[in-house]
Amino acid sequence: MKPIIVILVACVLFSCGNSKTNSAATAKNASVISDKVITADEQKQLVPDSVIALLKAGNQSFYTHKGTLKNDSLRIHLTASGQYPMAAVLSCIDSRVPVEDVFNMGIGDLFVARVAGNIEDQDILGSLEYACNIAGAKIILVLGHEHCGAVKSAIDNVKLGNITALLTRIQPAVDAVKTPGKRSSKNEALVHDVARKNVELTIDKMRTDSPILNKMEQEKKIKIVGGMYDLDSGKITFF
Ligand SMILES: [Zn+2]
Repeated sequence: MKPIIVILVACVLFSCGNSKTNSAATAKNASVISDKVITADEQKQLVPDSVIALLKAGNQSFYTHKGTLKNDSLRIHLTASGQYPMAAVLSCIDSRVPVEDVFNMGIGDLFVARVAGNIEDQDILGSLEYACNIAGAKIILVLGHEHCGAVKSAIDNVKLGNITALLTRIQPAVDAVKTPGKRSSKNEALVHDVARKNVELTIDKMRTDSPILNKMEQEKKIKIVGGMYDLDSGKITFF
């Protein structure tokens, strides 16, 4: 069975838990993706909630060991003349979180911006504005992860070269979290809480710093959501 079909079947199954209207809308929108690569028309018919369902279904396929989509020369060929990705993901650079793989997706499916600690700055915002406002992505997912080295370094107040400036962007999350125990990266509960708070604050800042994305979200053209990737299970918790 082709990977994209697996995604669609899982998506329809997943959407059974939603309200009847949402299920119908999700199934309808999911069913527009019938080929290996998303077309312009298919992208147009997608709505934010159906993209979230597709991402969840793709991740479920990944962490239940059903395998991941392998890009091939056909997919390279089909996407060469244009791209219609469904979502934009802002992720950490961590080598253990291969973004397309964890959603069982491939060439042409996602915009992916990566920076240590999945923080936002003007260049990242510009990239996400392009992804959504110009290129039609329906979702921005800020994807944090457990055991994040950048988060641990921010907690430990590491000072080193350009890393110092990067970590100042994670510091507000460190300051906001009051987890009991030592203020050290050895405190696993603290590392988890700061990583999650960092995703939430990144989303808040994105809405403040980008009137374009904020307006698109208010008009329900996009949704900005958060997720945490569990390195042990491969599962993503959305919030
Ligand atoms: Zn990380």
